[in-house]
Amino acid sequence: MQAVVFPAPESISVERVPDPTCAPDEVVVQVARCGICGTDVHIYRNEYMSDFPIIPGHEFGGVIVEVGRDVTGYAIGDRVAVDPNLYCGHCDMCRNEMGNHCLNWQGVGITRPGGFAEFTAVPARACYHLPDSLSDAQAAFIEPLACVVHAMKRIRVLPADPVLILGAGPMGLLLVQALRHVGASYVAVVEKQPARLDLARAMGASLAVAPGPEQAEQLRAIAPRGFGVVIDATGVPAVIEGAFQYLRPRGQYLQFGVTPQTATVTLRPYDIFRNDWTIIGSFALCYTFLPAIDWLASGAIDVGPLVSHVAPMQNFAEVFASFAAGATLKVHVQTGATA
Ligand SMILES: [Zn+2]
Ligand SMILES: [Zn+2]
Repeated sequence: MQAVVFPAPESISVERVPDPTCAPDEVVVQVARCGICGTDVHIYRNEYMSDFPIIPGHEFGGVIVEVGRDVTGYAIGDRVAVDPNLYCGHCDMCRNEMGNHCLNWQGVGITRPGGFAEFTAVPARACYHLPDSLSDAQAAFIEPLACVVHAMKRIRVLPADPVLILGAGPMGLLLVQALRHVGASYVAVVEKQPARLDLARAMGASLAVAPGPEQAEQLRAIAPRGFGVVIDATGVPAVIEGAFQYLRPRGQYLQFGVTPQTATVTLRPYDIFRNDWTIIGSFALCYTFLPAIDWLASGAIDVGPLVSHVAPMQNFAEVFASFAAGATLKVHVQTGATA
């Protein structure tokens, strides 16, 4: 089969590799579409937990074409999405409802072959049946939306809280929509790319502003005492340091964006104390595929406008470079026989 391979850090090859073999508890999925994600860029730069060579890709759905002998509940021809986070189910963290902190964690497209390939073998327990109404494009958004669902479970949006989101990339734009559904009043967005500001407004943002001299005044106009929730979706340390000036007393700050691992920011503990602030992290997802599927199937979350490019696997290197440079929104790779 054809697959995208990162043979070594900072290198990409689209090449023929052996078809995957199916272990007794696994199924083989013929991948329909797989989304490129910031995590793939970290893997490419050797800033994440992958070993090389690796077939990346962890945001995908497809059709089951082979079923391992011990598998029940799945059949050839079933359309599924794959939760790439393989929780062992028996360690202390899994048994305490913290599968995303599993001590034996494995990741499809991270520690084992992923979805930028015609086929991939995955444990059947990672597969979720897709409603017929969901398109292949929507299926490839279940994983990122499941991360947003996890974030919504980590914070507690009080009725009519004003919320501020810093960054309107694909994840920021999913957050905008999610927050409209969990009870926020105003959802304000700060983003430096003008096209993304328009999209944020179209996705339901009450206010979308570019960073700059007028930013503070515009934000204070809708939340004079600050925002109940401030979310960083940029991963940029300087943006994070500036975020707290917009947080209301008793507000919650959510770190959603991924910074470099060694980045630091300056924050006065006195301000946390004096303002009753809560600081929250949200890592990946944790058994949140089903609510993400429901949010998409019900039409509550619209992902169509978030896909800026759909490319065949042969063009992977080119679209990956544009994505890494911030010149695209979500990029979907069609992995079928397109040659
Ligand atoms: Zn991802
Ligand atoms: Zn575990």
